[in-house]
Amino acid sequence: MTESAAPSPRRVAAILLAGGRGLRAGFGRPKQLEWLCGKPVLRWSLDVLAGYPGLSGGVLVANHDVMAATYPLPEGWMAADPGVERQQSVANALSALTDWPDDAVVLVHDAARPGVDSAVVDRLLAALDGADAAIPVLPVPDTLVEAADGAAGAVVARDRLARVQTPQAFRLGTLRRAHAEASGAAATDDAQLVRSLGVSVATVEGDARLHKLTYAADMAILAGLLGTKDMMRTAVGMGYDVHRLVEGKPLWIGGIEIAHSHGLEGHSDADVGLHALTDAILGALGDGDIGDHFPPSDPQWRGAASHHFLSFAGERVAANGGRIGHLDLTIIAEAPRIGPHRVAIRDRIAEILAIPAGRVSVKATTTERLGFTGRREGIAAQAVATIQLPET
Ligand code: MG
Repeated sequence: MTESAAPSPRRVAAILLAGGRGLRAGFGRPKQLEWLCGKPVLRWSLDVLAGYPGLSGGVLVANHDVMAATYPLPEGWMAADPGVERQQSVANALSALTDWPDDAVVLVHDAARPGVDSAVVDRLLAALDGADAAIPVLPVPDTLVEAADGAAGAVVARDRLARVQTPQAFRLGTLRRAHAEASGAAATDDAQLVRSLGVSVATVEGDARLHKLTYAADMAILAGLLGTKDMMRTAVGMGYDVHRLVEGKPLWIGGIEIAHSHGLEGHSDADVGLHALTDAILGALGDGDIGDHFPPSDPQWRGAASHHFLSFAGERVAANGGRIGHLDLTIIAEAPRIGPHRVAIRDRIAEILAIPAGRVSVKATTTERLGFTGRREGIAAQAVATIQLPET
């Protein structure tokens, strides 16, 4: 054979550790499920690793609540139970990879580092061409000193130190041996176990985006690092509506009925406030207007309660992967006085759309007896909706 042998394609698996309870973060639920820039923390790592070209399988190590919230797992992925210690969690995942050969590569990653990307995985796999283990590291930018009893001691030379991140890459056989021979001492990462075998661990350049989620304040740092602005775009829509006031009809404004001598005339319940809001949301979505979706010519909307229109618009936002950022509604009426009902209207709108009341503003004005509103012939409403939508 004279031709040079092409490097054989390596099988690569990932072990994604999501078993921690995240108690230090002080969240009301596992930190892996906290929402970060449009998806749960865990999803960031899972999507990148499962989508990495050349990765042919993985093991997600998580408790049942986290696992249930993450199903279905990507193709080729398995589930494993976490252990009390990190080391046991990795060992459980290795048990799920029994069928894999020793010369396969395994990436061990901590789901609390959602900023993983394919570039760092590329660097790790390249380093494994000449090593059995590789880890991403970053330099230490701060001055380091010994410290005890509230006093600074000697400076520690930082040029010989590095911060260790995950994912960490290993020959599967090497990691198996490290775990089989682990003394039981709790190691904070797998590279320590492998090194204790006398195996050399190569270092590659880490990534600041691999910042670890430990405390609640880390969420803001991660949101900045992962670039929310790149993820969602802000869209603004406006709505305007007018209905005529007639005697002896119920008056519906902003989803509540207000006692008054006159009510608004229209095909539906003529709720001018909810109509303006519905049009504002549809406008932000670029999804036509209220008349397109609920034609006045359609008898099924005769006398309809307008909260149906507004909740429909809210569902369209959700169906587009978006969220309502803020709604601002202005009612223009000479009478009745809207001020006493503002809080009730705000709360009703928030309830219809299932959003916090703090994202809804309701204002009212007269037109100083000028125009049709000033002559009490009708009531007008203006609304502005701000929504966040995924970049397409
Ligand atoms: Mg209308």
